[in-house]
This record gives sequence, structure tokens and C-alpha cells, in this order.
Amino acid sequence: MTARQKVLILGGTTEARRLAEALANAPEIDAVLSYAGRTESPLAVPVPWRVGGFGGVPGLIDYLRAEKIDRVVDATHPFAAQMSGNAVAACAATSVPLVALERAPWRPEAGDRWIEVDTLEEAVAAVGDVPRRVFLGIGRLHLDAFVKKPQHHYLVRLVDAPREKLPLPNVTVVVARGPFDVDGDRALMVEHGSELVVSKNAGGTAAVAKIIAARSLGLPVVMVRRPHVPKRPAVDTVAAMLAWLAGGSVHDALSAGAERGV
Ligand code: NAP
Repeated sequence: MTARQKVLILGGTTEARRLAEALANAPEIDAVLSYAGRTESPLAVPVPWRVGGFGGVPGLIDYLRAEKIDRVVDATHPFAAQMSGNAVAACAATSVPLVALERAPWRPEAGDRWIEVDTLEEAVAAVGDVPRRVFLGIGRLHLDAFVKKPQHHYLVRLVDAPREKLPLPNVTVVVARGPFDVDGDRALMVEHGSELVVSKNAGGTAAVAKIIAARSLGLPVVMVRRPHVPKRPAVDTVAAMLAWLAGGSVHDALSAGAERGV
């Protein structure tokens, strides 16, 4: 009989949740999903889950040992570079195998008017000085950066209603949780007279609607490129990750993912 393995999924993405759902009834695998705790009520998943930081690399090492984790899946948001770096370091220190479930970045298509930048600070600069109506699709954590440009009107979409006044003087808040659809995002931009969109290059399908909507309306998009994360093996589909967790090599897993297209 094969021993059960315990898998830690570092989450915060739709893909992490899909993987957790796929593993809920998997024979031989006990999965636990870890959330950073960035939203007030993370969506329920059918596997045990925990919330909050581990306490840096030392804390994660302790957790991996205490919970007897056999494998780690890094299915964090592509901009959660700190967590991904910590996972690489802690897994190396404990010899726990790690594979990332990493979605491809969005690529500009015909009709896109992207201004690509490397940092949030560059995104703030790219918004310019002439007052504009800006759809700020970057999440709650980075709003402070735009305080430097108070002349713009900002449309901000957040998962949770803000508990405190936002730092931006001229702002409209929409509270909604993705995935979003193109017609809805297009209507939102038209309703609020958006002239420019600011987005992180998250990739995947849950947040792409605003990019397609901007394209269809001919709006420019200030697109923040992904931060650097340390090199680690990665697959790009849930099917490929399931193949790796079932005992395949990452190479075999990639082929399995490509064949099943999940
Ligand atoms: P981060 O900068 O990589 O992580 C900061 C710290 O948060 C980590 O060192 C870790 O704390 C904790 N953490 C992050 N992910 C965790 C997880 N899955 N489980 C347990 N602890 C976790 O990530 P971030 O501060 O959450 O966000 C960075 C960027 O990613 C932002 O642009 C944000 O908008 C975007 N983003 C993140 C999420 C998310 O769920 N985290 C979702 C959507 C977008 P310890 O060092 O104490 O372990």
C-alpha cells in the first residue's frame, strides 16, 4: 500500500482553489490550502485550509517539519514574489519537493495599447499629469502609490468594502469578487468614463476581462510586468500538477497537462 502524502498548496489564486477541489477526493493525498489572508472571507474549499503568514523562511521550515509536508505547490499570485522566494528557500532547506503552478502572463494582441512598466512607481509615472479617469485594477495593497497623482479620478475595484477611508482623494469604489466578464467590465468602464486602465500582468482568466474590455474600447493599459521570482520547476495547468502529485516527473507532468488541456 502506498503511504498517504501531505501536500501544502500555497494559494490565493483561482488555480489553487481548482487544484484543492481536484484533490478533495484524491486517494493517497491530504492537501492543505494556505491563504495569505488578503481578503476578509476567502472562498471555502473542500480541503482543510489555514490563513496567515508562516513567519518568513524559518517559520515555513518549522511548518513543513511540524506538519510533515511531503510536497509543496506554489500556486500563489504571480506578484506574491516574497512568498514564492520563501517557498524555494524553505523547500531547499528541508528537501521537500516544490513545483509552481504558474499561469502564463498575458501577451498584447492586435488592438491593445499597452504601456508596459516594471514597477508600480513606473505605473504611477505612466498615468501622467493631465487629469484623467483611471480604472485602477491593481488591488487594495498598492493604492498608496497613486497618492502622488491626486489630480486623477480613480475607479477602484476591491474584494472587500474598505474599512477606512482610501488614501486617494478622488475615488469611486466598486466592491466585487472575480471572475469578471468582458461585457460587465466594458459597461463599468463606459459608465465611469474610464480613459486609462492600470493592471498587473496577472495572467489567467479570472481578471482578463478588463484587458479585453479596454482593447474593445481602444483604451490604453498601463501594464505592470511580473516581479522576479527565484527559478523553480513549474507547470501551467491543474492537470499537469495532478500528474506531478501522482508521482510523475515534472517533464511527464507537463506533457500530461498539455494533452488534457486543463
Ligand atoms: P508576498 O509579498 O509574496 O507575501 C508577503 C507575505 O505574506 C509572505 O512573506 C507571507 O508571510 C505571506 N503570504 C503570502 N502568501 C501567502 C500564502 N499563500 N500563505 C501564507 N502566507 C502567505 O504576497 P502579498 O503581500 O500577498 O501580495 C503581493 C502581491 O500579490 C500584491 O501585488 C497583491 O496584490 C498580489 N496578490 C496576492 C494575493 C494573495 O493571495 N497573497 C492574491 C491576489 C494578488 P510570511 O513571510 O510571514 O510567511
